[in-house]
Amino acid sequence: MTDTKQKTDTYLVTGGRRKEWSHGVVNPPVYRASTCLFETYAELRERCADPSAKKLFYGRKGTPTQWSLEEAITELEGGTGTMLYPSGIAAITGAILACVKAGDHILITDSAYEPTRTFANGLLRQMGIETTYYDPMVGAGIEELFRENTSLVVTEAPGSLTFEVQDLPAIIAAAKKRDLYVITDNTWATPLLLNPLTMGADISVHACTKYIGGHSDIMLGSATANKRTFKALQRTAYQLGQTCSPDDAFLASRGLRTLGVRLKAHEENALKVAAWLRERPEVATVLHPAFEECPGHEVWARDFAGSSGLFSIVLKGGDYADTAALVDDMKLFKMGFSWGGYESLILPSDPNGSRSATSWDAPGPLVRLHIGLEDTDDLIADLEAGLERYAAHIGAKD
Ligand SMILES: *Cc1c(COP(=O)(O)O)cnc(C)c1O
Repeated sequence: MTDTKQKTDTYLVTGGRRKEWSHGVVNPPVYRASTCLFETYAELRERCADPSAKKLFYGRKGTPTQWSLEEAITELEGGTGTMLYPSGIAAITGAILACVKAGDHILITDSAYEPTRTFANGLLRQMGIETTYYDPMVGAGIEELFRENTSLVVTEAPGSLTFEVQDLPAIIAAAKKRDLYVITDNTWATPLLLNPLTMGADISVHACTKYIGGHSDIMLGSATANKRTFKALQRTAYQLGQTCSPDDAFLASRGLRTLGVRLKAHEENALKVAAWLRERPEVATVLHPAFEECPGHEVWARDFAGSSGLFSIVLKGGDYADTAALVDDMKLFKMGFSWGGYESLILPSDPNGSRSATSWDAPGPLVRLHIGLEDTDDLIADLEAGLERYAAHIGAKD
């Protein structure tokens, strides 16, 4: 374990830094390109022969800036190859499309990132692909949901908003028996805390927009596939015309270099804040995979190398309208949809809007928190004042 960890930390520094791409500078430069020039007809024909080879061919197929990031993510995830996309959701939809055809049936966890559901209920349905949502805690029981035409299982661990940790080895084992594809949205864990491909999944997806970029200033997605799936993933991305700007790829590569230290700090800060919240009278539950009250905590402890900075709390009493008293006057925790940057964020969010296989029954509103790199005493003081406002607001109504 220590050995692997050490290699990972080293690889975060050196990964994807091929001399022929970087020409001796530490960071591979930003190559902006549409047209690539060929000197001879023979050269043109050679490069056209395999447009997926990492040789300059046409801007849409990438340049050393993108290839360097792809190579680093592939190595960190233990895959065969990585495709980059203009956003995390583009990576998810591109990965799903690589695994399905008209008439198929697929399974998606009920705790999935909401836009993944929107895609399944929209375009996929329109293309004749039917989706069944399943209980994220289903484990080996997923087998009972398989049909003759099931082709794919989409997992996300832990779940967006509600943080159920899925038993990926059990789900993957069941899927393998039927030769189904398994995709994991691995955004929360980053390639450092979980490697779904080494557990047998076929594609691991990241919203690089989050921790890999790490500075809240890019939109980017990646999908890393194993040997059996990479060709289909690549073909699909090419046909869809998916690509990303070299500037964003450069920023993501730069973010990746410090992911190890940033993630450690996010983890430590989040654990401190979560432990404090757990003792608060206004808080009913802390949904953090490292705490035993989080569904799937044992699975997290078994499979993950640690935790990141994103978790939720369920408040006691009140409703979503009351959360305004908490969130409106925060000094450090501002509201925002993305996360994974260095700043702390707070977001009241009702999971009921994006569930169908399971129901969300909670004693009060759910509030998602991203713990950034600020001083935890300051973060706790901000939350303390907010929770007091929330309690006073509810008390005043009684
Ligand atoms: C943010 C997010 C995405 C989508 O990423 P974008 O870059 O915003 O499209 C996908 N999955 C999870 C779990 C996310 O949090």
